[in-house]
Amino acid sequence: MSDLLRGASAARALTERLAAESAALRARGFMPTLAIVRVGERDDDLAYERAARQRAAQCGVAARTVALPGDATQEALLHALTALSGDARVHGILLLRPLPAHLDDAAACAAIAPEKDVDGVTRASMAALYAGEAGFAPCTAAACLALLRHGGVPLDGSRVVVVGRSGVVGRPAALLLLRENATVTVAHSHTRALSEVCREADVLLVAAGRAGLIGAAHVRPGQVVVDVGIHAAPDGSLCGDVKFDEVAPIVGAITPVPGGVGALTTAILCQHVIQAAGGSA
Ligand code: NAP
Repeated sequence: MSDLLRGASAARALTERLAAESAALRARGFMPTLAIVRVGERDDDLAYERAARQRAAQCGVAARTVALPGDATQEALLHALTALSGDARVHGILLLRPLPAHLDDAAACAAIAPEKDVDGVTRASMAALYAGEAGFAPCTAAACLALLRHGGVPLDGSRVVVVGRSGVVGRPAALLLLRENATVTVAHSHTRALSEVCREADVLLVAAGRAGLIGAAHVRPGQVVVDVGIHAAPDGSLCGDVKFDEVAPIVGAITPVPGGVGALTTAILCQHVIQAAGGSA
């Protein structure tokens, strides 16, 4: 049976470090503060908001929510984001997405000040990531990297296959891995012979949003598998993009779902807020 790469243990270690960093900032008169902007009351948004607030409390980060009704106008949303961008007491802004269909996502993201863009959604953050400059990467992509680092997985010179090229996970994760000197292949829905491509990897990072896409035929002994996917089964249980029971007996290490990348994402969010507030976390 493979080793488990557990997000909770990585999150615990990071949370302890962040709490100390936040205490140092508070001693200098700064209260690191996250503003969460939510439109409507989607269950996913409420769950993530709850998890983020809980983690923020553990990290010594103040969190406040700006909740707009589900039928909020574009003007109301832009007004809220612009006000938070100009509020010196707020260091990080998290906009919960996807937004309701009547709202313009690109315009909303553009209203977030780049220095407060702790989830890497602005063009400025994307450009910084592309150019390898300072800036915040999307939290989930950064959490994948943090989990691999915490697990001591060698990346320099390793072959990494990322399955998925979305702007929130696959693409930014590929750029972060390139920074670590990994040799990165990005696979997607047009990739031919996906199983062969996946078997070439030392590290296989799967963010396809397809429950059970990756099975025994896609892996080989010794690989490290990071499963970003998260899906709710009709019975309420959660599973990932990887068939855990098939894959875990073959590979060297694998993230469980739940308890893998997702467990670390909110700690990374808090790390970004503390950095935005001037901390060195
Ligand atoms: P997304 O926007 O739907 O993107 C999915 C990507 O996977 C696309 O690039 C798509 O290719 C590719 N893909 C789909 N089917 C494929 C197939 N059969 N073979 C190869 N590639 C395929 O999804 P996302 O937002 O990146 O999220 C991915 C998963 O991560 C979801 O399950 C989501 O719930 C989960 N997630 C987890 C967290 C967390 O904190 N754990 C956070 C965010 C997301 P094309 O580009 O060609 O369409």
